[in-house]
Amino acid sequence: MDKKPVIAILSLTCCEGCQISIFDLGERFLEFLTKVNIGDFRLAEELPDVKYYDIAIVEGTAITKQQLRRLKIVRNKSKILIALGACACVGGPQEIKDYRGNKNQLMRMIYPNIRGIDNPNIKSVKELVRVDLEIPGCPINKEEFFRIINELLEGKKPIIEQKPVCEECIRKNKMCFLLLGKPCLGPITLAGCGAPCPANNFPCDGCRGPRKGINLEAMKRALKFKAHLCEDEIEMIIERFGEKNEYIKNSKHK
Ligand code: SF4
Ligand code: SF4
Ligand code: SF4
Repeated sequence: MDKKPVIAILSLTCCEGCQISIFDLGERFLEFLTKVNIGDFRLAEELPDVKYYDIAIVEGTAITKQQLRRLKIVRNKSKILIALGACACVGGPQEIKDYRGNKNQLMRMIYPNIRGIDNPNIKSVKELVRVDLEIPGCPINKEEFFRIINELLEGKKPIIEQKPVCEECIRKNKMCFLLLGKPCLGPITLAGCGAPCPANNFPCDGCRGPRKGINLEAMKRALKFKAHLCEDEIEMIIERFGEKNEYIKNSKHK
């Protein structure tokens, strides 16, 4: 009997960049494919409906009723469900629209005819169904994905250590962007990417989302007094990758 685990890789609304990162593993991805049965992977091939997934990997956000239905069906037939990338983990860049005033007015500016277009608030996958594991990033770090998926296949429980990007940053203690007066979200962002952005002269945008227990108020003060941003600029920065949303939710649960 074939005992290979059945894996599904599915996309909801997003740019599908996280799936592209998986392809970017190249030969290692092809080797991984020999260890599993693919139950669904739209970017690779259309497959007949499979009744059970050992691991379902979901990227993107469910913004239509049809996508929400699909997400619930996938949850019900999966042993392990992984949220893949910032869209699935924290709502991603598309969540910005929820903070930009009257959403329907905004929609009318973009689409000439909005009849029939549902316009719900953006929710992460874990706000809609139970999620077993999250792989953050916009896009994900392919090496981290590869480690996690292999650990799962070996029956291990993968862990992403809760520490800030600053700990992996080569600018720590010297040439730190914040100390140079540039906005950098390293202190509140979950590490694991190896801090490539500060290493390449770009401040951290926080694409891996907030780590647990962040002090958002302290971060805002640093952005205000060190990076000299005004209130509106600060709000825009923390709306991109779930910092604001996660912070509001966690404050309510305290
Ligand atoms: S997390 Fe980023 S790269 Fe991944 S699907 Fe969303 S927008 Fe694209
Ligand atoms: S440059 Fe950014 S990520 Fe690096 S230490 Fe400073 S605040 Fe942290
Ligand atoms: S440094 Fe920040 S923006 Fe760059 S990949 Fe890491 S978390 Fe994302």
